[in-house]
Amino acid sequence: MNQKRPAVFFDRDGVLNVDHGYTYREQDFEWMAGAIETIKYFNARNYRVFVITNQSGVARGYYTEHDVQLLHQFMNEELDKQGAHIDAFYYCPHHSEGKVEEYRQSCTCRKPKPEMIHRAIKEWAVDSAHSFMIGDKSSDIEAANAAGLTGYLFTGGNLYKFTEEQILPYIHVKNIS
Ligand SMILES: [Mg+2]
Ligand SMILES: [Zn+2]
Repeated sequence: MNQKRPAVFFDRDGVLNVDHGYTYREQDFEWMAGAIETIKYFNARNYRVFVITNQSGVARGYYTEHDVQLLHQFMNEELDKQGAHIDAFYYCPHHSEGKVEEYRQSCTCRKPKPEMIHRAIKEWAVDSAHSFMIGDKSSDIEAANAAGLTGYLFTGGNLYKFTEEQILPYIHVKNIS
């Protein structure tokens, strides 16, 4: 049986990790308080967990796609130690004013466009009616809404506490043992 599963779409910088501005190195990566706990919570309840992130630093020439992928691999290695995981990362490396020519474009994937969310929904058979996004910018919320999802605006603090107070009362999470 191929049952659709709900998903949580996380923005990355400012939600899962502290936004220090164009983070791409392991040594600059700092988990947001409560982020691992939040991921683990949804892992344990049959949700898919995705990261949907704009990485215009690639187009700006600050780092490469390979750097982005290495950092994402590092995040999953760290999560694995805590029994948590992210199912997939979707990132947009473009920017209309980037200096790296191959990435300089007004693309179809950069948030607030919903394309990365749509791709995840399609590639992972997501039950979008029971899915939502957590972001720290209006472009995250716009992208979520454009994909037909509720977007929750996280403005800092502890992500798990935020989830408990601002999200869990409003959604139906099936507990599975
Ligand atoms: Mg952000
Ligand atoms: Zn793009």
